[in-house]
Amino acid sequence: MKVLLKTPAQIEAMAEAGRVSALALRRVGEAVEPGITTAELDAIAEKVIRAEGGTPAFKGYGGFPASICASVNDAVVHGIPSRKMKLREGDIISIDTGAVVGGWVGDNAWTYPVGEVAPEVARLLEVGEKCMWEGLAQAAPKKRLGDIGHAVQSMAEAAGFSVVREYVGHGIGRAMHEDPNVPNFGRRRTGLKLLPGMVLAIEPMVNMGTRKVVEGDDGWIVRTRDGKPSVHFEKTVAITEDGPRILTTEEGHPRPV
Ligand code: MG
Repeated sequence: MKVLLKTPAQIEAMAEAGRVSALALRRVGEAVEPGITTAELDAIAEKVIRAEGGTPAFKGYGGFPASICASVNDAVVHGIPSRKMKLREGDIISIDTGAVVGGWVGDNAWTYPVGEVAPEVARLLEVGEKCMWEGLAQAAPKKRLGDIGHAVQSMAEAAGFSVVREYVGHGIGRAMHEDPNVPNFGRRRTGLKLLPGMVLAIEPMVNMGTRKVVEGDDGWIVRTRDGKPSVHFEKTVAITEDGPRILTTEEGHPRPV
């Protein structure tokens, strides 16, 4: 394992990739409504990313054909956008998108409700988001990777939900996936020590039912084994002397002049 530490100047540069990623994700989220297709959402993300001078980080990554992953209801991650997939009232959709700007990558995800969702689904959305914030809060010097995983897992399980094991967060920099892996489960005070200059994508996937997942037959989509819904929230965060600095935020960095 080789963890690449970033300098403060590199973290500033990553904040610009983060800003574009966050903007694209917000614009897609604002377009989520009954009747829209996931292909239309994908087009919005790509347009925003390119207008900001970036390139979609996902397009062509390992052969992935689109700028977003669009994972509806029991789909956990890696759903391929489609003109045939039309959102319906009561669905949830997990959007994952990232941008490359100046050679640096930003990566973020959010699960949105489509209109009104069932109360238990609303609770899953709320808990999934909280899990992400709890994990991000641990992204500080003197903490360890296990502190992140423990924070996420204990929040999810206390609510009666489960966390996916097979897919995890990751280091990020010039490549979308760098060392280390960042599991959403673990024990306190175990694992790699976190240092200033590490940049991580923290991304809990929280399931309403079983934590078990199955891969679909297109070679990409991952679904819950029991068909119950799953949510996914992700931000890219830099570990600084002062604690976590979220990079996938629109306030992250002024545009270079
Ligand atoms: Mg990621």
